[in-house]
Amino acid sequence: MSSLDQLYSVALENHARLLSSGDGQAIYVVNPPSASGAPSPDFILEIRRDGKSVTVAEQQPTLLPSFCAERHINPDGTFCLYWGEVEPSEIDSREAAEIWWGRLLTFLLRQRSAAALRRWPGKTDARAHGSTAARFQAMAEENAAALGPRFLASLKEDRLRLAKGRRRDRAALLKDGRRLVSVLRGERRMMTLRQRCKCDNADKLLLPAAACSGHAGQLADLVLNLDGWQRAEADFYTLLRIGKHVCCGTMDDCPLAKPAAR
Ligand SMILES: [Zn+2]
Ligand SMILES: [Zn+2]
Ligand SMILES: [Zn+2]
Repeated sequence: MSSLDQLYSVALENHARLLSSGDGQAIYVVNPPSASGAPSPDFILEIRRDGKSVTVAEQQPTLLPSFCAERHINPDGTFCLYWGEVEPSEIDSREAAEIWWGRLLTFLLRQRSAAALRRWPGKTDARAHGSTAARFQAMAEENAAALGPRFLASLKEDRLRLAKGRRRDRAALLKDGRRLVSVLRGERRMMTLRQRCKCDNADKLLLPAAACSGHAGQLADLVLNLDGWQRAEADFYTLLRIGKHVCCGTMDDCPLAKPAAR
């Protein structure tokens, strides 16, 4: 069965009705149920076969902007439902088709909220823009997970930030505005290895980071991966500007709406 056939086999129970199909593409009417039950307009979506997966876009940009990086709509209008290489997207089974529709329905519900809030909803699963940034994000999340579930939560809640330091050879990590660690970029290590670890169990174990089950390395890698993520996102927006892609104006704080930073 092709990816499109797999999707068709479970479309109805996923609030999608086939309008027409042919030649590697299908048009669906999709109306995800909202929690409030309030009626809302139908999305008319075009799904195209793309190898073992598919791409999906509004047939005509009607309810959504034709492009918006903040809203995960690519310059060609297709929706960004996955992290590309980070997660598999082959639709080769009924289960994979269910997962795909689930992601699409979530995406469409988020779009409704985004339009109302003028920002992307759901901080905890905010995703990096561009595949390079997404790779850094995935690595940073692995580092944070190694330091404990609470540490990972603080990353996902956007409470970890890099300090804007003057020195290019160093990077410092802040949590809620307070400095956690400083890292020497060139040597890829914490500046002060005798410093108390910052993992979830640090207050119980009272160990220096260097002696706390590899956490000094995880902390240093985390800072450098966050740094890489930030740079990759800046590059992503620079490329969009070079490509003359303009902000759709539906989101507050869209980096594309602002003049290039530094
Ligand atoms: Zn936009
Ligand atoms: Zn995206
Ligand atoms: Zn530790």
